[in-house]
Amino acid sequence: MGSVAEDTDLIAALQAAVGADQVLHGERLAERPAGFWSRHALQARALVRPATTEEVSAILKVCHQRRQPVITHGGLTGLVGGAICSADDVVLSLERMNQIEELDPVDRLARVQAGVILQQLQEAADAQDLLFPLDLGGRGSATIGGNISTNAGGNRVIRYGMTRDLVLGLEAVLADGTVVSSMNQMIKNNTGYDLKQLFIGAEGTLGVVTRAVVKLSEKPRSQQTLFVALNSFAEVKQFLKLMDARLGGALSAFEVMWQNFYRLVTTEPATNQAPLSQNYPFYALVESMGGDPEADQARLEAALADAYEAGLIQDAVVAQSEAQRSALWAMRDDVRQMGRVGPGSSFDVSVRLSRMEDYVNAVNARLAARFPDFTNIIFGHLGDGNLHFYVAPGQTGDGIKEAVERAVYEPLADYDGSISAEHGIGLSKKAYLSLSRSADEIRLMQTLKQALDPHNLLNPGRIIDPA
Ligand code: ZN
Repeated sequence: MGSVAEDTDLIAALQAAVGADQVLHGERLAERPAGFWSRHALQARALVRPATTEEVSAILKVCHQRRQPVITHGGLTGLVGGAICSADDVVLSLERMNQIEELDPVDRLARVQAGVILQQLQEAADAQDLLFPLDLGGRGSATIGGNISTNAGGNRVIRYGMTRDLVLGLEAVLADGTVVSSMNQMIKNNTGYDLKQLFIGAEGTLGVVTRAVVKLSEKPRSQQTLFVALNSFAEVKQFLKLMDARLGGALSAFEVMWQNFYRLVTTEPATNQAPLSQNYPFYALVESMGGDPEADQARLEAALADAYEAGLIQDAVVAQSEAQRSALWAMRDDVRQMGRVGPGSSFDVSVRLSRMEDYVNAVNARLAARFPDFTNIIFGHLGDGNLHFYVAPGQTGDGIKEAVERAVYEPLADYDGSISAEHGIGLSKKAYLSLSRSADEIRLMQTLKQALDPHNLLNPGRIIDPA
């Protein structure tokens, strides 16, 4: 913590930058929780709430002069500790930068401030018969700035890509307060380095994203959702290929549940009913989006009939109403049931589909060797090669968490996989970064960090440490 005189000076300078009302410190800070997942009060020297890019710039200039670390906060729904702050930090919250500045149905783009809530943008697009396709569980709190800074993924990546694929341009403020406005509004623009990519997925370490131009799509006129049971992982892979080929680009989600996940979310006290027998090894939740309800339904049913005939699927239900559609997704989203198998850790990893089964077997073999009573609940966005695990080792104590992490992460090197598919690195996965990125790659990240933030002030300690 700074001395009283330093604190007074810092607070006065921040107040001059953004107005006294928008600088929270002391008692006014104690009312704020530390995060979405936390009930503890937030610890910081101050929390500042700018309303414009110019105010963000003024705040960062104040902090740069004083070599004051700054942690940027969006919706706080992250899962890797990216927003964790201490009593020595200034927190920069973009919650007041929540304006949708433009939403154009002809150009099919939206210009937004970084603090816009994801769901707010989804609804604004929908009202104009457009789709902002990014969708994830935290939609009601997560912000566009946070989605961009973490390159968020979610449920529709197979069709629309990650957040990176939805950003046309953005504006960011560098550590010294320089505003880099790169608000491109065109799909094609080859004019040198694509600077926006420096900030997408950088977790706020190279600059603070303040505004963005994002791509919108036409709103689908129809949506089909089905749920199938399968006998083997080989059939899961073939079924994905068959559906993607037969639906001609309409496939928008391909989520897979291993049997243990399905049993957990359809057995009391979970409130979802099992739509199919619990006795199959794999289940897939499949969604397509199209432009012609009757033709789309017919095409889906024909594809499903093909899959039956080829022996790829054992049983299936097709949602006949919005209520049935929601019920199928509610199973997939009921990740709170994981805790029932005991205390443990959640994982988000990526591996090529062709190597996924071997990788899962390798992880389970390592867990079994060390933890005879382990449970590994498995599900994920299979269409994207993205797996989620919840591992309960069946024992507690020193070093257990790390041993579980090593069992999950270390085999990834053999399968050319990634320790983070869609959650980022933050603080939680930093120690394992070298399993997914080479020493030269990490050195280049350090070079970029050094060039843009030489005093290591923006979200310090996230992703990498200085060289
Ligand atoms: Zn996910």
